[in-house]
Amino acid sequence: NEFVREEFSKGALRNKTVEDVLTPLDKCFMLNANSVLDFKSMSMIMQSGYTRIPVYEEERTNLVDMLYVKDLALVDPDDCVPLSTISKFYNHPLHFVFNDTKLDAVLEEFKRGKSHLAIVQKVNNEGEGDPFYEAMGLVTLEDVIEEIIRSEILDE
Ligand code: ADP
Repeated sequence: NEFVREEFSKGALRNKTVEDVLTPLDKCFMLNANSVLDFKSMSMIMQSGYTRIPVYEEERTNLVDMLYVKDLALVDPDDCVPLSTISKFYNHPLHFVFNDTKLDAVLEEFKRGKSHLAIVQKVNNEGEGDPFYEAMGLVTLEDVIEEIIRSEILDE
């Protein structure tokens, strides 16, 4: 019945974490901060179909900015502007969540905030050196909603 179904999907949100639903970093469409916005790279961005694109420096785990596709509206590909000029100009904030954050908590955060995308990070304490934060992937409102729908269908 309605009540049981509602409790079931709430359960999925309470028990699952962002790590269960994220898009892993190696599957993410991202751009190197030192790339140039020319015809080729701008076409690639358009063809990716994503609205938000993480920008990294040196390594893909080192995310420094977020490019929104709409930031490109005033960019002329013939000017070959460096990506970092644009991403630093708009300076969209990055939201980070830890890998063990529950889906209900991240859903509340998405409802409060302006951005519906967060970077999932974990503490990396493998290896010799000090532990450090490492990006694992992206989670968006869509990933959370998909999980809600999935759990409701399973319940049928
Ligand atoms: P968009 O608005 O770009 O379509 P959504 O928030 O609707 O993104 O998310 C759709 C799916 O795409 C989600 O699974 C999300 O994790 C993933 N996603 C979002 N941005 C990217 C990106 N830059 N690269 C790879 N996957 C992404």
